[in-house]
Amino acid sequence: MSNVKVRFAPSPTGNLHVGNLRTALVNYLFARSQGGNFMLRIDDTDTERSTAAFEASIRTDLEWMGMHQDSEDRQSERLGQYDAALQRLLTDGRAYACYETPEELALKRKAQLSAGRPPVYDRAALKLNDDQKAAFEAEGRRPHFRFLLNDAEVAWHDMVRGDVAYHMSSLSDPVLFREDGRVIYTMASVVDDIDHAITHIIRGEDHVTNSAAQIQLFKALGARAPEMGHVALLAGADGEGLSKRLGSLSIGQLRDEGMQPAAIASLLARIGTADPVVPQPVLGDIVDGFDLSRFGRATAKFDPAELAQINARVIQQLDFAAVETDLVAAGVGGGAPFWQAVRDNLGTVAEAADWWSVCTAPVTPVIEAEAQAVTNAAADLLPEGDLPADIWGDWTRAVAAQTGVKGRGLFMPLRLALTGRQKGPEIAPLLSFMGRARVIERLRGNTA
Ligand code: GLU
Repeated sequence: MSNVKVRFAPSPTGNLHVGNLRTALVNYLFARSQGGNFMLRIDDTDTERSTAAFEASIRTDLEWMGMHQDSEDRQSERLGQYDAALQRLLTDGRAYACYETPEELALKRKAQLSAGRPPVYDRAALKLNDDQKAAFEAEGRRPHFRFLLNDAEVAWHDMVRGDVAYHMSSLSDPVLFREDGRVIYTMASVVDDIDHAITHIIRGEDHVTNSAAQIQLFKALGARAPEMGHVALLAGADGEGLSKRLGSLSIGQLRDEGMQPAAIASLLARIGTADPVVPQPVLGDIVDGFDLSRFGRATAKFDPAELAQINARVIQQLDFAAVETDLVAAGVGGGAPFWQAVRDNLGTVAEAADWWSVCTAPVTPVIEAEAQAVTNAAADLLPEGDLPADIWGDWTRAVAAQTGVKGRGLFMPLRLALTGRQKGPEIAPLLSFMGRARVIERLRGNTA
């Protein structure tokens, strides 16, 4: 193993949706492509909104995707480390206590904005002397703590965005701890990344500003900031930003809709890059072509219709062993031969059940008046015995010879009579599952 270590750090305050799954996947693929460690970090310091059920659902989704973590940790078990880090910053003069209420802060911002100034925190609390602080405490106010940013430019070479620079004078000193004593993500994340020896932080571009401040925080805590990569956010196919439905489209929903994990991974690993999406049935194979530098800065477009197409193309490549459990659960028989007969025509694996029922449950044939000569001849000329797929050629040639009908005029009536549908898998390998008696009944126009 290399020393590369990345983390996916979900807050268990909701289900995973395509956007956060993409962040997880990019981290996973990066770790695997570098022979590194993929860590799962549960960011559960928001005790009001974090739930065990959301955490369980995140774990289920990652497992279903086949994205196994090599290590894990949770923030709620590391509160002592965050307190110690705050003490260190206070001692070094890089953190300071503030007593403004949210209302007072809102008023300040309003005044700054109406004076045409950026709403950057004015550091009034930095000037408080001990008596003033004691007076606030006596009033019953509890302090929140801010990080004192250095008034300097922070620049880094972003693995996705290239050279990025921020001047800290445009940012407010970030809050590290709230007045109720709860640590804020900005702080907890840096302390964790240091303790866990994270080498690369890969996350969405909504964190770029955070990163600028956090780079200073890493330094203030005596560490070097990891490499950073901020991937562009996802937008809907119209480029408009993820619609409400797409934005909240959970992985559980995609699973229920029959999307294969490999199809989701094939798409999410490539959208936002200049590379074509290649439907890969095995997650490990996606690792091979993975290169973070291929990701561009433009918003990546997520189109559920594209996912459905990739899904169909992944299903065409799935071996029977990969779907056996699902097929058996759905009551589909016929083993590998049946799966091979239908898999090219499926939008989802579950649709195999429709074709199983077309083969094994009563179907009302559709036979147009002018097609009766064809279907009757087909019934008359059906070879004796079992119906392996290779009877098809001789049989249909015999029907063509007798009726003088060829091509579509021959095959469509057979399809409509035997399946009741205009479209579907090749008929030849389905005959043996229908069985002789049923084939003859249907060709004669009887429900069977
Ligand atoms: N819990 C944070 C989030 O979900 C993690 C961000 C990060 O990767 O640092 O946004």
